[in-house]
Amino acid sequence: MASKKPSAKAKRINEFKAQLGGLDDLFEREEQRKEDLSARKEAALREKSCESKNRYSSYDEAQKTIAACAAHGTRGLHAYRCPYCNGWHLTHKPQRK
Ligand SMILES: [Zn+2]
Repeated sequence: MASKKPSAKAKRINEFKAQLGGLDDLFEREEQRKEDLSARKEAALREKSCESKNRYSSYDEAQKTIAACAAHGTRGLHAYRCPYCNGWHLTHKPQRK
């Protein structure tokens, strides 16, 4: 029933599919780019919130340091559990009320 020759329509469909393939590629590259970007952001965040900071092995130790800082006039510090090293760090970030 169907013609043995590829019809003009089939040709257009194939061209369209090829175009979609090209787009898939584009999306893949975009995903890769986003992943690279988030990996860099992640590294920068880790550097900022973990590696560049003093590390305390316990909440108590962090609290003692906060108390010592407060005694020297540095207030507004609070401790947070670090998701990277599992230790504790101090931050000046104001706590949300
Ligand atoms: Zn850390």
